[in-house]
This record gives sequence, structure tokens and C-alpha cells, in this order.
Amino acid sequence: MKYTLNKVLVIGLGLIGGSFAKALKIRHLVDEVSGYDLNSAECELGLQLGVIDKQVTSLLDAVAEADLVMLAVPVKAMEQLLGAIAPALRPDTLVTDAGSTKMNIIEAAQRVFPTMPATFVPGHPIAGAEKSGVMAANADLFERHKVILTPLPETDPLAVSVVAELWQSLGAEVLQMEPQRHDEVLAATSHLPHLLAFSLVDTLAHEEENKDIFRYAAGGFRDFTRIAASDPVMWHDICQANREALLNQIDQFTTGLSRLRQAIDTDDSQTLLGIFTRARIAREYFSTLLTGTAYELPSAPTSADIPAKGAENPGE
Ligand code: NAD
Repeated sequence: MKYTLNKVLVIGLGLIGGSFAKALKIRHLVDEVSGYDLNSAECELGLQLGVIDKQVTSLLDAVAEADLVMLAVPVKAMEQLLGAIAPALRPDTLVTDAGSTKMNIIEAAQRVFPTMPATFVPGHPIAGAEKSGVMAANADLFERHKVILTPLPETDPLAVSVVAELWQSLGAEVLQMEPQRHDEVLAATSHLPHLLAFSLVDTLAHEEENKDIFRYAAGGFRDFTRIAASDPVMWHDICQANREALLNQIDQFTTGLSRLRQAIDTDDSQTLLGIFTRARIAREYFSTLLTGTAYELPSAPTSADIPAKGAENPGE
């Protein structure tokens, strides 16, 4: 199959859809970027802000004309949307998405399409902000950020290449992963930290002295809880869409927290210092991996790195 990329339609013109549209437009990568949103005010604003070239009124007509359709709506809205656009897709219309979870969207597509289109390339940009709506659209949002594509056995490799190259033109680094693995990895590295931040702020906000707690909040608390300002509806959807992987991560974390609680309760310095030191060494190890500055990577932390019982606190 040969693909062209003259007309791109972005459905869901919020932070991610708006940023994708604006990034394509500013870099003149395609001839026309049109936008469709359930909330037509977002599209009107998108037009005024120069995020899109054209506001779509008939979704089916726009899908029929598009060479690539980007679905950037909340994950629980994907199935209904896939069903709505399915009749207008051509055999060569590329369809991709930006949803934060992948298995539920793939399962939704399997329910909608009797035969999975070879042009469907599920994706997830690992970039975002604690803001919503087209007003927050940022043409540089994906620069130096990762985008994970989770193609299916039915997906045409050429379709994957075209979508990957488009993301690369926006400055992103593209990776491929099995959808199930994507959901497990993201549950641990993104979904769980967001839930911890939401839960901590919610718990502290119930304390009687909460005004003082927030008034004297130090930098660490602010940094840790910044992500609790993220969109509640989006996170509600993610919890339901990635239920199993998330429950698994919450259970593992609960076990770790209980171990820490037990060590505090029993004055077990060795366990406390062991947990903190392992975490500190692991954090330094991962920072080196992420910056990629070392010629030779340090070895992963081992039990030999754990301080002996009675050792002094290694630092602040
Ligand atoms: P957003 O709330 O800023 O925008 C979503 C837009 O979709 C809204 O304008 C809404 O009106 C519209 N919409 C909802 N249902 C629709 C439908 N059926 N048809 C057309 N439009 C519809 O949300 P966002 O942050 O841009 O997230 C969009 C997608 O990207 C989600 O799937 C989210 O999981 C994913 N994502 C978000 C982030 C992030 O940090 N915000 C990062 C990566 C991926």
C-alpha cells in the first residue's frame, strides 16, 4: 500500500491533539491540518490560535478526505469514536491515536472492526503537562520526548514507518513495544506515581490542620504533588482502562510501604538504611542511564551496597 500525507485530521483538539496539529502546521509538514472536537468552541479557538487550518463540521466527510486521522480524545471515548469514523475510512487512510493506555484501545478496535485495518497504528506520546484544552497547545511538546508505537500483527510495517517518521519530524524519538508491555511499563512509571500524588494531596487535604500543611509545604512536596494538578477525568479513564496492571503496581507498592512502616515501628535501622540506600543508588543509576553521559554504565545496585546494621545514615 502507498500512503500520502497531504491532509491530516485531528479528532479531539485538547492539549495533545492541539499540540500535534500545531507542530505539523508550524513545520509545514502537510498541506492541511483540520480539527474536530465535540466541544466546537475548542475548534473555533484552535482556528483563531493558528493551531489548525480548518474546523470540521461533518466528521464523516472530513474522515473520508483525510490521509491520516489522529485520535486524541480521552481513552474511554475511543471506542465510540472508532465506531463513528469506521464507515468513512478508505483502505489507505492511516489511523493513529495518542491514548495513554493501549490494550483497551486495541480491544475497542477489535470490537469495532470485523477485520483490523492494516493502517491502524496505535501510539502514545510520552509528553504532556498538567493542562488541558487547545489553549495549552505547544508545538514543541514532543521535541526530545519518546513516542511509543504498539503495532499489531495485522499492521502494515509501511504504515508504522510513515507514522514513526511523522513523529520524528516533530522532534520525537520513536520506540516500538508490545501493547501489553506498554501498559505494564506505564502503570509503573507514570500511572502509579500520578495516583500516589493524587492520593497524598487528597489525604492531606482532609487533615484538620491542612492549611498549615500546605502553607509550609517545602519544595519536595511541591515537586512530588505537581502532577496531582492533572486532569481528573483523564486519570479516571486511565485507572479504568489499565485496571489490572495498575492494581498489580499498587499491590507491589503497598508491600514495599508496609516493609518501611514495619522498619520504623520496630526501630530496624538496617532495613531503613537498606531501603533508602538501595533507592538512592538505583536513582543515580537510572539518572546515568537516562542522560546517557557515561561511557561505561555503573552496575545495577546489589545487596553488597546495603549498609551493615548500625551503620550511620549515609546522607541527608
Ligand atoms: P484534553 O482534555 O486536553 O483534550 C481532549 C479533547 O477531546 C477535549 O477537547 C474534548 O472535548 C475532546 N473530546 C472528548 N470526546 C470526544 C469525542 N468523542 N469526539 C471528539 N472530541 C472529543 O486531553 P489531552 O490531555 O489532550 O488527552 C488526549 C489524549 O491523549 C488522551 O487519550 C490522553 O490519555 C492522551 N495523553 C495525554 C497526555 C497528557 O499529559 N495530557 C499525555 C499523553 C497522552
